[in-house]
Amino acid sequence: MSILKPSLMDFTQKELTALVKPAFRAKQIYGWMYHHYADNYEAMKNIPQSLKTELEEKYCVNPLKIARKEESSDGTIKYLLELQDGKTMEAVWIKMKEEQVDCNGEITQEAKYTICVSTQVGCKVGCTFCLTAKGGFTRDLSAGEIVAQVVTLKKDNNHKHNRMINIVYMGMGEPLDNLTNLTKAIEIFQEDEGLCISGKRQTVSTSGLSNKIDQLGKLDLGVHIAISLHAVDDDLRTELIPMNKAHNINSIIEAVKRFPIDTRKRVMFEYLVIKNKNDDLGSAKKLVKLLTGIKAKVNLIYFNPYPGTPYDRPSRGDMIAFQEYLVQHGLLCTIRDSKGIDISAACGQLKEKTKQDEEIK
Ligand code: SAH
Ligand code: SF4
Repeated sequence: MSILKPSLMDFTQKELTALVKPAFRAKQIYGWMYHHYADNYEAMKNIPQSLKTELEEKYCVNPLKIARKEESSDGTIKYLLELQDGKTMEAVWIKMKEEQVDCNGEITQEAKYTICVSTQVGCKVGCTFCLTAKGGFTRDLSAGEIVAQVVTLKKDNNHKHNRMINIVYMGMGEPLDNLTNLTKAIEIFQEDEGLCISGKRQTVSTSGLSNKIDQLGKLDLGVHIAISLHAVDDDLRTELIPMNKAHNINSIIEAVKRFPIDTRKRVMFEYLVIKNKNDDLGSAKKLVKLLTGIKAKVNLIYFNPYPGTPYDRPSRGDMIAFQEYLVQHGLLCTIRDSKGIDISAACGQLKEKTKQDEEIK
């Protein structure tokens, strides 16, 4: 096992400026990492060798390696990424909008992409429907390991540093259970001379640690939140997400009401639809009532089955009926199109598949 070195990507520009002398070298190193996607010191041509040797003793540049990659027919690419200690986690490159071309073949609108990042190896929350939960919890990712996912995926897709990208914290792990490193990563993403990804372009998805929603809100980083609600009564929600006992639906709704949101934006509520569990119109009715008074948007997600799960995927008809009920009662509601459905798209599924392949070998 290699020794785990912190990464230069763990530092805000201010911190890096305090670390290297003369200070303008920090700006140059930032440029190499976030504009040229340098993976190592060798690539940093205008940095003196003495400084590089000094830094290399303590810090690596990009702590990640691509271990496996699966590309879907819809342009979604799922990455299994290896950390310095050999542990693995996932990040996904999602094509949100196709490139628009006019009749002369000129590009009028570039394709739009979102990167889904992980915040932990494994997860402590233990949701009964989630494959990540099955492997238990291994460790938190550092801020640099979160930032490096975006750098690695942009580089692998030749996505220029000044092209916009959105980030969703919906990969492996519970972001608010790693709040310190999460907030540091959010800040590093925002650096003007780095990747320059504003808070508005970042969405933190949480299974609902209500006290941590408050803490994140107080930091006022301008990020959006998405709440993985999945159920409208506490009994079912506790069955699906055991820590609902400590952070029940009411406590989450109250925390959301206190969260600072951009007045033009809405809080996203994710609702994983499971056949015969929460796909009935009675649940839709309760959901409307629960979200009254909140500027909400509901995203319905088809449960994505995997071997050994007791749950089933809902029918398309029930999904649409559920959506129609919400829309008719004044809620904005979309059905998440199953991007990358042919490539083990739900969280934790590529990692699990790789484990199974290795067991077969
Ligand atoms: N821990 C955070 C963020 C990561 S989970 C959270 O729970 O919000 C990312 C998303 O994957 C969640 O919305 C979760 O509901 C969804 N997910 C997990 N297992 C799934 C499955 N089998 N099918 C479909 N979506 C799943
Ligand atoms: Fe963790 Fe999210 Fe999976 Fe629940 S759904 S176990 S919170 S990663």
